[in-house]
Amino acid sequence: MEKVIFFDRDGTLIEDKHYLSSPLYIRFKKGVLKTLKALQDRGYKFFIVSNQSGIKRGFFSYRRAERIMRELASRLKAEKILIEGIYFCPHHPGERCPCRKPKTFLLKKIKKTYPELDFSRSYFVGDKKEDIETGKRYGIKTILLSPDCNEKFEADFCIKSFSELLHIIGD
Ligand SMILES: [Mg+2]
Ligand SMILES: [Zn+2]
Repeated sequence: MEKVIFFDRDGTLIEDKHYLSSPLYIRFKKGVLKTLKALQDRGYKFFIVSNQSGIKRGFFSYRRAERIMRELASRLKAEKILIEGIYFCPHHPGERCPCRKPKTFLLKKIKKTYPELDFSRSYFVGDKKEDIETGKRYGIKTILLSPDCNEKFEADFCIKSFSELLHIIGD
């Protein structure tokens, strides 16, 4: 069984540019590459689970969103960091789709597609309340990345910088 970490994208792995619409604006947050590499060495598989309502809002197309995700994955791959899967919700909050975080449809889908994943040894890492709620609803440990950690949204852990993950997520 494989240990796994689910990551939010914007504001977690990369800087949160409001409705990021071009691969040109991808900027990894401080410590992300080094930390992912170390976590990979500890045996974790990585997934990205992201809300991309900018598609439905008309800021960019579905294909463009896919391109940005592909570019992100290939930049990580260049650093020998493998992203096992990238899942995103293209809908508008008002559509009440089943896949927009904090709904757990995308996690269910991942579980079905990758039966070898051990959800009991997994984490959800994100910078928003929805991320924490997604993980909690699915019964996995949650880690909030926040500059102050004043509001934890019931996350199991709160960290101020990405590299602190290495203190929380062990072998
Ligand atoms: Mg985010
Ligand atoms: Zn959706």
